[in-house]
Amino acid sequence: MKARNVDVVIVGGGMVGLTLACALKDTDLNVVIIERSESEARLSLGRDCRVSAIVAGTVDMLHGIGVWSQMEAQTQAIAAMRIWDDQRFGSIRFEAEEIERDALGYLVENSLLTHALLDVLHDARNIEWRCPAALDDVHWKASHVEVKLDDGSLLHTPLIVGADGGNSWLRSQAGIQVWSHRFGQRGIVATVRPQFNHRGIAYQRFLPTGPLAMLPMSGGLCSIVWSADDNEADRLMALDDDAFKEALQLAFGPQLGRIEEVGERAAFPLRSQLAKHMVRPRLALIGDAAHQVHPLAGLGVNLGIRDAMALAQELADARRFKEDIGSMDVLERMRRNRLPDVLAVMGSMEGFHHLFTSKIPGIPLLRGAGMRIVGNAGALKSLLMRRSTGLSLPLPKQIS
Ligand SMILES: Cc1cc2nc3c(=O)[nH]c(=O)nc-3n(C[C@H](O)[C@H](O)[C@H](O)COP(=O)(O)OP(=O)(O)OC[C@H]3O[C@@H](n4cnc5c(N)ncnc54)[C@H](O)[C@@H]3O)c2cc1C
Repeated sequence: MKARNVDVVIVGGGMVGLTLACALKDTDLNVVIIERSESEARLSLGRDCRVSAIVAGTVDMLHGIGVWSQMEAQTQAIAAMRIWDDQRFGSIRFEAEEIERDALGYLVENSLLTHALLDVLHDARNIEWRCPAALDDVHWKASHVEVKLDDGSLLHTPLIVGADGGNSWLRSQAGIQVWSHRFGQRGIVATVRPQFNHRGIAYQRFLPTGPLAMLPMSGGLCSIVWSADDNEADRLMALDDDAFKEALQLAFGPQLGRIEEVGERAAFPLRSQLAKHMVRPRLALIGDAAHQVHPLAGLGVNLGIRDAMALAQELADARRFKEDIGSMDVLERMRRNRLPDVLAVMGSMEGFHHLFTSKIPGIPLLRGAGMRIVGNAGALKSLLMRRSTGLSLPLPKQIS
């Protein structure tokens, strides 16, 4: 069969791969995006229990590519965040007004973001969405990549992008290894209905076994992400709904009154992982295919969206200046742009995780003191907030 030439092949149509495709819409690059299965919401009290806290800087990016306006009405603004530890040595509160915004970020169901991205791609003339489809084979040549799909069709492309998640098939085909650290924990997610309205506040309580987040959703519901050691996660998943509600109530405390209803639960193994190479000649890895972080700060997909936007900008610039878009000159620029941010987030997530689960005597007192110091240090606190909401990072030129 004769091969068709395309400019970019994206493997994986999750939130990150789709963001890259949307950011390349209306460029003169021809893009094929390959997704193996339609994404389906995992319902819990009628809502997708896979949610993401999308921070303010990422909202600006999604706004710039026309995605945010498609979904804004169904998101829940996070006006404030309250963090405290179970031993009550310290707590800290962040308010959106401290960074002069209406919201620190927004709680978004993953299926909502995926559908909004697909809606934006709907009328794109330069983007081809292949789903369900998978790759059978891939070969890297000096001038292009040969891609064979499972329906026998062949594509030749100067650049293939792996956005196919933490267990990336493309990454292993390229022989790229990962540094990986399992936390020995699982993140239990579910939708719950508390007695009192959350008023747009996201709560995070640090327990000795890991953090428990109660995140505000529209309709007065909350989404929980409860990270617990594997044995404890097994026990919690095995409880019936009433016993789980009781355990959750005990772990979270009385802030939102009684937990009145809890929906179906799902549990995900947690790990921190970094690909040893983010780029190779004619290959770029983005999103979870390149790095995975502990969900305690809710930054994983935010990092991936920043990767996608940075790559889109480099590709558009390279095409404008007639560079080879799969060359290391171009891909290295995106890697240099992204790596410091990725390493900073990974490092701080590891640090927070150890700080809040450490059994060393004296650590709870120290972290309590740390929270009080940061809480009272106006300038340092707002710097930290601008950093963690991505507002201190420049917007890609194309969309600023
Ligand atoms: C419990 C939990 C809570 C989280 N909460 C947050 C949060 O609040 N905020 C946040 O920013 N992040 C959060 N994250 C992280 C976030 O979910 C991930 O970072 C994000 O889903 C990564 O998106 P992705 O598109 O890179 O990968 P994925 O979501 O894994 O998508 C990969 C896509 O590739 C497809 N695919 C895989 N292999 C192939 C193949 N061979 N061919 C074709 N297609 C393929 C898959 O079907 C999938 O659609 C959380 C994670 C967990 C586990």
